[in-house]
This record gives sequence, structure tokens and C-alpha cells, in this order.
Amino acid sequence: MKTVDLFRQKTVLSLEVFPPKRTAPVGTIYETLDELKGITPDFISVTYGAGGSENSGATLEIASSIKNRYGIESVAHIPCLNLTREDVLLILERLKKEGIENILALRGDLVPGIEPAGEFQYAADLIRFIRAHGDFNVIGACYPEGHQESGSLVKDIHYLREKVDAGVSQLITQLFFDNEYFYRFRERMELAGIRVPVEAGIMPVVNKKQIERMVSLCSVHLPSKFTSMMERYGDNSEAMRDAGIAYAVDQIVDLTAHGVEGIHLYTMNRPYIANKIYEAVFRLMAF
Ligand code: FAD
Repeated sequence: MKTVDLFRQKTVLSLEVFPPKRTAPVGTIYETLDELKGITPDFISVTYGAGGSENSGATLEIASSIKNRYGIESVAHIPCLNLTREDVLLILERLKKEGIENILALRGDLVPGIEPAGEFQYAADLIRFIRAHGDFNVIGACYPEGHQESGSLVKDIHYLREKVDAGVSQLITQLFFDNEYFYRFRERMELAGIRVPVEAGIMPVVNKKQIERMVSLCSVHLPSKFTSMMERYGDNSEAMRDAGIAYAVDQIVDLTAHGVEGIHLYTMNRPYIANKIYEAVFRLMAF
């Protein structure tokens, strides 16, 4: 099933998981997926390390198991900077063989010590290539506060429009902690004539280190209610976890009240947190 069709029926709820580190067997992801069994998300997406073609194995294996063993629709992420056209063709062949119809097409980031393959410069190049080589549903990434390299929200929305015109049928945002940025982003999308469904990417923050890393990677705004929460609970891991869950639930309630088309939960492979949030917002998603 193409995940874009889900948006006609309901507010979509999706989860994101990542393959275990190379030092851990890929099978450890099944413990995570088993513990997520109480949840019935509309789809689960699987990230792909930006290092190149050797990273594709775990992503494809997990995406295939989600679809064929757990019976949940899956989405394979593909970042293209370090891939050749031949690499992408091989990935597409494997996806077709496993019956996976959905791809999150990404540029990826420069990896220190790895020279980009030089065949795809932007996500739009990959999107056109995928559309020309199969009947896939292609999803794109977007940035309510602007992508960290773009320098201008106007340029950012211009290139997003280009990406959608290249063949994207739905979007997923980077994480954000202040919903106002998302609402302003939706207005810019509308002004730019971008009319595809967009899911809000929500990351429950469960420890101080995680948020410091995230903020340095994607420079997102931290509202004062968020920083006060960090100051108050940051040194107590259980209290921080519970406060992080409550904050994410509060964001989701506000987003659904404002008619968001979908929520994409960055689970960080922590089933406890995903389960708690699901319990809290599951009914809301049906309205
Ligand atoms: P693009 O859409 O290509 O944009 C990148 C930058 O180039 C932007 O600043 C844009 O404004 C600019 N730009 C675009 N087109 C042009 C043009 N024609 N001329 C000039 N400038 C242009 N990374 C991974 O490695 N693996 C993952 O699994 C992964 N999953 C992700 C999931 C989500 C939901 C999100 C939001 C991000 C994910 N990322 C992942 C991170 C992503 O790869 C980075 O954010 C990356 O820096 C940008 O990717 P993009 O596809 O948005 O790039």
C-alpha cells in the first residue's frame, strides 16, 4: 500500500526506528518491534546511515520484516549523497522484490572522510530518478524552521516546492519543540502552492545529552517552557523521561486540535516511550 492513501481516511500516526549499531546484531531490532506490538501505527519508517551503499542491508532487511513479518506498512529511507545511480537501482530492485512501495528520499549529510559519489546533489535529483525507475510512493523531508544550510526561509520553501514538483506525494518534518514554527511553515507551504500532506515530526526528549546533540545537529528553537523543563528535571533520569513524554503529548494534542494531517514519532528505538505516547493520544488520532 502507498502510505499517501492513508491520509484520505484519518490523522496518520507513524513511527521511526533505526537499525542497531554495526557492533550489535541486526536481530536486536526485533526486540524493539516486539515491544511495540501494542501499537498499531499506520506505518513504520527505517532510517539509513548516510555512509553509502554498505548501509543499505540493515535498512532493507528491517523494512522488509516490518512489512512481511509484522504486517505493518513500511518506508525505507534512502540518503543519496554517497550513492551512485547503480547503487540506487540495486536498492530499488530489492524493494520491489520485498513488496515495499514507500521511500523517504533524502540528500543526507556529508560524512567526514567520505567523498560524495557525485551523482546526486540534492534530494530532488534522487526523487526524479526513483520516479523514473518504478511505481514508488516518494516521501520528502521538510524543515519548519528552515534547513540548517539554507540561510533563508524563502529559498527553503522554493526548493521544497521543487522537490514536490519532482514527485514527492507526502512530507515529514524535522523535529521541533515549538508548534508555532510548524503553523507558520504550513502557511508558507500554502503560499508556495505546496498541497501534499505533511506529518509533524515529534521527538520525545528523554535526557539532556540527547537534546544537546539534536540542537547542535539541526539548530531547532527551544521555547522557554521546554528549557525550564530541562532545568527542573534534567538531572533526574526518570523525572526527565516522564516530563519529556508529557511535553510530546502536549505538542501532539495541540497539533491534532489544529488539524495536523499526521504525527511521525521519532521513537529512538525506545518502546516504553512510544507505548506511553500512543496510549495517551491513540483515541485523538481517530477523530
Ligand atoms: P534537500 O532537499 O536536498 O535539501 C538540502 C539543502 O539544499 C537545503 O538547504 C535546501 O534548501 C538546499 N537545496 C535544495 N535544492 C537546491 C538547489 N537546487 N540549489 C541550491 N540549494 C538547494 N539522513 C540520513 O542520512 N538518513 C536518514 O535516514 C535520514 N532520515 C531523515 C528523516 C527525516 C524525517 C528528516 C527530516 C531528515 C532525515 N535525514 C536523514 C537527514 C537529512 O538527510 C538531512 O537533513 C539533510 O541535510 C537534508 O536532506 P534533504 O533530503 O532535506 O535535502
